[in-house]
Amino acid sequence: MVQLTPPSASRSAVEKFIERHFSHLTDPPFVGSPTIRGGQIAANSRLAALNLSGYASKRNEVLPISSRGASQLSPYIRHGLLQLSEVWNHVETAPSKDKKKFRDELLWQEYARHWYAALGEKTRAPLKKKPLEVQTGNGWDRTLPCINLAVDELETNGWLVNQTRMWLSSDWTVRHGQDWRKGEDRFFQHLIDGSRAANRLGWQWTTGIGSSKPYGFSRWQVEKRAPGLCNRCQHKTQCPIQEWPDEPLLEAVPAPTKIDNYGPTTTIKTDAPTDVWLTAESLGENDPALLHNPSMPAVFVFDEPLLMRLRISPKRIVFLVETLAEIAETRPLNIFLGDPQVELDGKQLAVTHAPVPGFQKYAQSLNIVETWPWPWLCQPNNAPVHSFSSWVKKANKP
Ligand SMILES: Cc1cc2nc3c(=O)[nH]c(=O)nc-3n(C[C@H](O)[C@H](O)[C@H](O)COP(=O)(O)OP(=O)(O)OC[C@H]3O[C@@H](n4cnc5c(N)ncnc54)[C@H](O)[C@@H]3O)c2cc1C
Repeated sequence: MVQLTPPSASRSAVEKFIERHFSHLTDPPFVGSPTIRGGQIAANSRLAALNLSGYASKRNEVLPISSRGASQLSPYIRHGLLQLSEVWNHVETAPSKDKKKFRDELLWQEYARHWYAALGEKTRAPLKKKPLEVQTGNGWDRTLPCINLAVDELETNGWLVNQTRMWLSSDWTVRHGQDWRKGEDRFFQHLIDGSRAANRLGWQWTTGIGSSKPYGFSRWQVEKRAPGLCNRCQHKTQCPIQEWPDEPLLEAVPAPTKIDNYGPTTTIKTDAPTDVWLTAESLGENDPALLHNPSMPAVFVFDEPLLMRLRISPKRIVFLVETLAEIAETRPLNIFLGDPQVELDGKQLAVTHAPVPGFQKYAQSLNIVETWPWPWLCQPNNAPVHSFSSWVKKANKP
């Protein structure tokens, strides 16, 4: 058993902590994102500073950076520091066009979660169509400034605007026919907001294997969203992405059967808990299990076998440790590095259900005596998950 003493929440203390305890699980340099900080304080101040004026027209802008309208709330939403309903309510007074567009995006996030709760690991396979041919490549051509800019932001900051996520995933799959799962894993390694739900949905949607049509990336999007970038390109007179790419050949696959991992709708209590188990899905001050057990120690386990396999970038681990270090300032928190099943053995746990397969896997064998429902934005109601448009029509929207 490896129990870790939480560091202070300062960036330098957290980076030293990562180097000391995680250097066998991640690759140097052991540094956090220069643009994104973890923790509830950072989450709350980003939400408080959110200004949605012009969001609808600026959300897709890439360059100049000052023209971007994206909120950059995704790392905090991903890890439950901000719940979707809280963000939804926060924008009530925003200009109506911007509010509508922004809330639509929140619904996409909610849809991704429902989709993943309903299909779990089946989302690792193409859900509608499979490519007939897969090329052996495993990368992007970084001599193109449009690609290089996006890969650099992915690897340095751990975050991308939606537009460049589409560029990279389309270039990877639609134009070069590479295996989408390798590209999805590459994103997942670096994105601080990386979730199998939204990331797989994004890749399946862009490549056309989970949507009605692939998204083609070509020069005109770069000229529109990042004006001036092509002038710096060594390939500007012979642009390899000048034309819309040919559509890949795809073959229909049968629709998968659904599982159900939406979790309970009311709290289930069988005994008195001794510890609140925090998961990476729900690390915020409003986590229901944490909120309802204010004086109870909390426990978080870094899943060592999983980290060994995934080799998540240090930026994401820094974000998580900054968040945990802040929690440790407000209540007793035990952090372990190891196998969750072993580290949590013998504890009577209170937890918030997480609608992801990893939670199911461990929850079954742990002594969970109090389970709080996942804080859905749209209470699950069996709305069909095969497409966003069908789901959103039937979903229990707020
Ligand atoms: C290939 C690909 C991979 C992606 N991987 C992820 C991922 O791992 N994690 C992730 O949270 N999002 C992912 N997205 C969705 C989207 O790109 C990001 O949520 C968004 O860019 C985050 O920036 P933001 O917070 O400024 O978004 P904003 O535009 O400000 O939107 C506000 C919030 O709405 C949600 N949202 C916005 N767009 C989407 C979308 N298309 N799908 C789902 N939720 C959305 C996010 O929670 C976001 O924080 C991916 C999209 C694509 C095309």
